[in-house]
Amino acid sequence: MSAKNCARCGKVFNYVAGAPLCSLCKEEDEKDYKRVKEYLYDHHGATITEVSIALDISVKKLKRFLREGRIEIIEGMNLLLECESCGAPIKSGQYCDACAKELADEFKAVTKQPNNHQAAQTDGFKKIAKMRYLNKNNM
Ligand SMILES: [Zn+2]
Ligand SMILES: [Zn+2]
Repeated sequence: MSAKNCARCGKVFNYVAGAPLCSLCKEEDEKDYKRVKEYLYDHHGATITEVSIALDISVKKLKRFLREGRIEIIEGMNLLLECESCGAPIKSGQYCDACAKELADEFKAVTKQPNNHQAAQTDGFKKIAKMRYLNKNNM
């Protein structure tokens, strides 16, 4: 145990583990979390903004609930999180599928440097040649 300042209200408290919040703020967190869960139970597919307005809980806090892996909120939900790269709605994590793939591809390109570009070009030439052939036959 050590003395710490509560991350929310700044009060000094005996820190044990987990979030650096005093017992009062932690209790409030739990209450908010329960309200969010109840709200989502009745409003499947509500957005983070809707929940925030309806319950008067900050978007920041709601996002923290999600990122902390309180998965019950996410299930049956959509549009709650935003991709950190393009802002598209996602269900969990940090990036949408497209951006996650792009990031993975970029990573691959850096590590392996495959010659995909050239392969795609050759493919394109083949298609054009085929089209020309077909056009000739049609004429
Ligand atoms: Zn506090
Ligand atoms: Zn994205």
